Amino acid sequence: MKKLPILLFIFLLLAGCRSSQPAYEADIFAMDTVMSLDVWADDESQTLTEELVQIIQELEAELSVTRANSAISAANAGQTVQLSGTVATLLDGTLALSGRTGGALDPTIYPVLQLWGFTTENKQVPAPDALAEALAHTGADRVHLDGTTLQLEDGCQLDFGAVAKGYAGQLCADHLLQAAPDCAAMLMLGGNAQTVGTKPDGSAWRVGITDPDDPAAVIAVLELTGTHSIVTSGGYQRYFEQDGEVYCHIIDPTTGYPADTGLTSVTIVCQNGLLADGLSTALYVMGPEAAVKFWRGSNDFEMVLIAQDRGVLVTEGLTDGFTCDAAYEVLTR
Ligand code: AMP
Ligand code: MG
Repeated sequence: MKKLPILLFIFLLLAGCRSSQPAYEADIFAMDTVMSLDVWADDESQTLTEELVQIIQELEAELSVTRANSAISAANAGQTVQLSGTVATLLDGTLALSGRTGGALDPTIYPVLQLWGFTTENKQVPAPDALAEALAHTGADRVHLDGTTLQLEDGCQLDFGAVAKGYAGQLCADHLLQAAPDCAAMLMLGGNAQTVGTKPDGSAWRVGITDPDDPAAVIAVLELTGTHSIVTSGGYQRYFEQDGEVYCHIIDPTTGYPADTGLTSVTIVCQNGLLADGLSTALYVMGPEAAVKFWRGSNDFEMVLIAQDRGVLVTEGLTDGFTCDAAYEVLTR
């Protein structure tokens, strides 16, 4: 198959996801990214879409590390805080996933991320002693969550950048399916996609995977029916160069350095947005061999891995309707 150019990608998104016009659509800026919400729910479409916007904005207000008055900012400043049940559930699930991935997903990596300047315009390689000092305060065991009461140990700070958008997609899907079980939706939250229900024309949802070597194009397209979370983590999404080296925004918590395992992109497809988003980051950190082993030991997600040499691995559960610009290998259990 020839390389899919950007226009075709846009066509796929438009034609694939909107072959029947959504009853209501909204484009918003939240969580530092552009989100587009397309909802088909008859005359409830507009109301439901507005409710989704509110769900996303409320989550962002509580999680934000850049808004001084958010609950997480207060916790990061050393205060004991009361979380909403929604965010306590997110934190609880994130800590569990951190354990399941052997710490590859580490929601306490924020002080390290700040040293690299990923939260600012001044990205730079940090001094080794500053990095060692910041790393000394990381680790999920420094987070104390008792019901909805959160207290962080001194120097420990949380950041939900690896999971917030996936969880937001999950909350939106749950809300839609509860309010209007027969509805359909395609929610694009930055690079995260959340499909809900069956497209009114009965065709499959089509979701493109960005080409890591040419982020204006797609390298592969997934066809899915029903409700799924599809999340991609890639080094190409945010990075800087210094002295000829490229440094990406996904940090290996064991070294404090950007993950550099030979992968350029990890896409996770599953039924749970927090799991999809958390695993996309964690498996990127783990690298290809550990990621394949992890998938073989699990039964709750499928994935597409893309390596620096453009080698593509796709797990057996995704091969129906999968098209790819590069040669790919199918992983079996
Ligand atoms: P994602 O794009 O979902 O892979 O998330 C990347 C974001 O998560 C980064 O921009 C950081 O805010 C944060 N992050 C980076 N490395 C890690 C890590 N190892 N564990 C948890 N969060 C991380
Ligand atoms: Mg993630």
